[in-house]
Amino acid sequence: MNKKISLFKAIKKLSAVLLLFLALGCMSTGGAAATVPPDIGISWCEDPAQEEHGEDLQAYIDTVAAAGGNPVLLPLIENENQAKEILGAIDGLVLTGGEDIDPSLYGEAPHANLEYTNPQRDASDSLLLAAALKSDFPVVAVCRGVQFLNVFQGGTLYQDLPSQYGTDQLHRSADEVDFEYHDIAVEEGSLLAGIMGQPVLNANSWHHQGIKDVGAGLDVIAIAEDGMIEALQLDDAAFVLGVQFHPEWHYVEGDTEYLAIFEELVKFASE
Ligand code: MN
Repeated sequence: MNKKISLFKAIKKLSAVLLLFLALGCMSTGGAAATVPPDIGISWCEDPAQEEHGEDLQAYIDTVAAAGGNPVLLPLIENENQAKEILGAIDGLVLTGGEDIDPSLYGEAPHANLEYTNPQRDASDSLLLAAALKSDFPVVAVCRGVQFLNVFQGGTLYQDLPSQYGTDQLHRSADEVDFEYHDIAVEEGSLLAGIMGQPVLNANSWHHQGIKDVGAGLDVIAIAEDGMIEALQLDDAAFVLGVQFHPEWHYVEGDTEYLAIFEELVKFASE
């Protein structure tokens, strides 16, 4: 074939590809939210460099992805600048479950039954939450996450539910492996009621600590039959929702309606 003609053809092809890119570029500036999954930061719960994740972390990853988000595993954060930088690179935040919270953060001495604490993680979550709340970032806080949100806002915790909140209702199973399940009553008109569309949920439960005094600006939006606080939302925030149960485990174990909590986070993160 004539070299000139094939060069001409190649240029024609290239310009067609370029035009396509330009057209896609124009489209995506108009409707980026619909085509690009928002980056959802998952707060540190184990070393993100590990090739295989523990099943708790994997449950968050799978649920965020199923909800249409791009899961981003966050490192432990050590200073304000790093927190700002990380928030600049993501669109929504999940504060995950985990260790007990250091009671010195709410002015108490450790109870005899206080379990593992992780001061590095407390510091990291504190920096992350400070930056997130300052910029009205969408947040879902799960288990330890909702407890941390409460402490961050000046609230307190029961350090050891079995000895300090003695009701017939277990909030963590005796074998400490399987979930307990208990009903929670959801406040009408709350974020959680809007998302789940049901006044009562049979929620899973696996928590050693629990919310005692509620922090500033937080509304109690779900309680168990024994009075335990099971969900909070932050006033004056677009979407800051904390739940004591594990919606990600509900989802991966087949209660697919709980995906809606993460879908709502993805929706706010896309705005
Ligand atoms: Mn519970």
